[in-house]
Amino acid sequence: MKKQGFTFEKLKIASFDFTCCEGCQLQLTNKESTLTDFFELLDIRTFREISSEKYDDYDIALIEGSISRQDEVERLTTIRSQAKTLIAFGTCACFGGVNSLKNKFPLKEVVAEVYPDMPVETLLVRKVSDVVKVDLSIHGCPVNKEEVERILVNLVTGSQVSLPKYPVCVECKELLNTCLFELGEICLGPITRAGCNAVCTTGKTPCLGCRGPSEEINMPAFLELIKERKLSQNDFQEKITFYNAFEAFTSYEA
Ligand code: SF4
Ligand code: SF4
Ligand code: SF4
Repeated sequence: MKKQGFTFEKLKIASFDFTCCEGCQLQLTNKESTLTDFFELLDIRTFREISSEKYDDYDIALIEGSISRQDEVERLTTIRSQAKTLIAFGTCACFGGVNSLKNKFPLKEVVAEVYPDMPVETLLVRKVSDVVKVDLSIHGCPVNKEEVERILVNLVTGSQVSLPKYPVCVECKELLNTCLFELGEICLGPITRAGCNAVCTTGKTPCLGCRGPSEEINMPAFLELIKERKLSQNDFQEKITFYNAFEAFTSYEA
């Protein structure tokens, strides 16, 4: 197709939900001001939130959600064999997300508590890359619509995809927010990848790290800050394990 002098092929894209709330897929459909332009880039092959039609030929698969059942493992494996590019879409897919809280308790007890009269088949929650190869990760609970649009334009035009390496604090400071550490709260902004425009801290809610570790993470300095301020170790552990996004750092103690 032709647009503004450039010629490009629409991306054949399919979106699939696994264990999740589907909030990330909704992000793509709820910004009406850019939706028409956005869809000019895409040939939607399967996307439950957008169309009831389903086609099995696609180049890009967006995978939303974590993996918590055997039938999901099989479905994901089939999608992987079909897709040229598989994208872990949102925090559940990238890290396990809030569903991973289930893994903190014995599986049998969880099932008995939540489904006392209805036995269900359920596994420990896994991120997508624990099951199949992931080509690209888009972080966030939910994903940031502008960031998704930018990444998909990069893919359409064959440009390099780049994500912010710096932490949420950079965006938060640009917005001139009062730091929540000054109000006695633990905020994971200093160690979390930016790209959400500090949406939580701007609303006076501490960052829980849904976008995972920033590439410039300095965990020792962050722990020192918590110690210096005499903030709660329990609070730190609860926050850093909430989305399972800091798996590699959970043995750290403030
Ligand atoms: S990452 Fe958050 S918004 Fe997206 S599917 Fe998971 S729980 Fe929902
Ligand atoms: S509120 Fe959080 S994100 Fe904002 S500057 Fe303070 S630590 Fe950083
Ligand atoms: S402020 Fe933190 S928890 Fe909130 S959206 Fe951004 S990265 Fe996620």
